[in-house]
Parts: sequence; C-alpha cells; structure tokens
Amino acid sequence: MKAVIQVDLDSLWTYRRYRNLDPPAPGAIDPVYSVGVKRFLDMFRKNSIKATFFVIGSDALIPEHARIIKEIVEEGHEIANHTMSHPLNFSSLAEEIIIEEIKKSHEILERLSGKKVRGFRAPMFSIDERVLKILKGLAYVYDSSVLPSFIAPLALNCAHSILGGGLRNISGSNIRFANTPLCLYRPDMENMAKRGQGKLYELPISVMPGLRLPMHSTYVFICGRWLFDWGLREMRKKQIHLNYLFHGIDLLDIIKYDLKLPLFGGLEKRKNICEYIIERLKSECEVMSTLDLIGKNGWCA
Ligand SMILES: [Zn+2]
Repeated sequence: MKAVIQVDLDSLWTYRRYRNLDPPAPGAIDPVYSVGVKRFLDMFRKNSIKATFFVIGSDALIPEHARIIKEIVEEGHEIANHTMSHPLNFSSLAEEIIIEEIKKSHEILERLSGKKVRGFRAPMFSIDERVLKILKGLAYVYDSSVLPSFIAPLALNCAHSILGGGLRNISGSNIRFANTPLCLYRPDMENMAKRGQGKLYELPISVMPGLRLPMHSTYVFICGRWLFDWGLREMRKKQIHLNYLFHGIDLLDIIKYDLKLPLFGGLEKRKNICEYIIERLKSECEVMSTLDLIGKNGWCA
C-alpha cells in the first residue's frame, strides 16, 4: 500500500484571522516555522520519510521562514503551492485575483527552492472547476484540495454555530465532492467530482471508505486514535492509497500563543498521536512525496 504524507503550513496568523484576532507584527517569525516545521522534520528524518509541504507564498518572504523552507527542500521533501495569502473563500474570488494568488506564490517558491512547483492546495479546501482550469493553464501536475466527505462541511457549520461571531464567515470543502473517487484520479474539468481524461490529477485527502469520515490529524485529535486505525484498516482492505494530512500547528503548544482551538487537546497528546500515525505509516506503507506517487501511477481500483 502506498501512502503520501502532506503538511499544510498554515501559519498562526491564518488561525488568528479566522478568530478575528490581531495579526502578528510585520516580518515576525511564525512558530509554525520555527517550532512546528522543525518538529515534523525531526519525525520525518527519524522515520526516513519524504513528505509534501504546502507553503503560503507570503510566508516565504520572511528570511527566517525562507531558511527553514530551504531546509525542507534540502532534506528531500516536496514543496507545493498553498496560495500567496491564504485568502478566505478562495474559489469565490475574481478570476484575476485567483490567478495572481497562485502565480505570485509559485514564482516565490520556485525561486527559493530551485525546484519546479507542480502541486496545489486551495485554502480551506475551497476548490472548483474554475480554479482547476487555471491550474491546468499554469501547467500544474496536480491539485490536492478535494476532501470527499459530507461530514467536513457540516463540522464547519457546527464550528460557526458554537463559536458564533467569534469565527469569520468562511466556506470550506464543498458537499458536492462527498462522492468523488477516494484516490488519485483525473477530474472531468466541467465536473471535477467525476473522472475525466485531462492531464491534471486530483489527489483527494483521505477519508474513511464507506462512511467517508475525515481521518486527518485534526479529526484524530478530536475523536481519538481509533479513527485513524479504523480508516487505515478500511483503506488497506479496499487497496486505496492513503493521502494523510497534517498541519504545522499540530505540533505547537497553542495555548502559549494565546490561541484556543476547541477539543484540540494539549501538545503532548497531539505529539504522541502524530508520532503514532507517522510510525504506523512508515512500517505498514510505502511512503513517498505526492509527485512520486503520481510518477509511479498510484492508481487504485
Ligand atoms: Zn491552509
């Protein structure tokens, strides 16, 4: 069974923005880079794993972040594009803004890494056919923004209700993607929920087959390890390659940074869960970067 590990480097300021909190001072070093990335790199090094990091272009303009991004590349991991400024409701923006968000970040990341950037993830999984066509026009190899679950949009609605005015009005994954294929496919450019014939690939974020419960780290922190164990077992039964998602914030002591995420749990608990998941993936799967999976024709049944 093949597996891909992806890490979204959503900096603390992106979470603070969701909660309408003050932004950091311009140029400030973000703990997602100075602490979170380093902890992930240690875990990956220990397990000889090559992962894919999705980077926000504007973060890469800060010299200390740029140095850490170079370290990611030097350790053999893949860098992918997570837009220039991680805008809210990305897929509803004007076409020229979407193009600029992708292109600016693309140029910065290629210049910094010295490598071709070929993969993309939309902020908050806010993707549609219009964005996909733009990616195709920019010669991207893959998008990885589909979260094929009806639970995730409902969970975001619940968060809106629980947090009330404390959370910006953001849209996330679209419920119409709840039935897409669960592993690597070529989307129909007129209806990306279906298979098509184009050159661009879609690699959905893994959810548990059947119930389609999201099983990425955020959900495992909230629900427990059983969710990952169950999901992995079901994926193996169905011979579906795994695309496992973490976030840079997963390995941060967020209380220290005056940020509360309901049900997220303390650092020690999250660190243990991340270690457990990474070690299991290493021992039970062939783990590779996203581009390597595509290069090896990581198709499923
Ligand atoms: Zn993000």
